[in-house]
Amino acid sequence: MVRINRENRSAFYKVKCQDCENEQIIFQRASTAVDCVVCGSVLAEPSGGNAKIHAEIIEELSE
Ligand SMILES: [Zn+2]
Repeated sequence: MVRINRENRSAFYKVKCQDCENEQIIFQRASTAVDCVVCGSVLAEPSGGNAKIHAEIIEELSE
């Protein structure tokens, strides 16, 4: 049996902007604020480890 250690994998979230319904992919551990590309509202803010998400998370994407 081969086991692959994937503890350090990074993840992305597919989120929907609550203001304009734009869907956008953002990095789970974003180190800078992420704005909606359409309306400019803040979708995620850095907060130490994982970013604080202000948008609706539709899906979690690994790797
Ligand atoms: Zn927006």
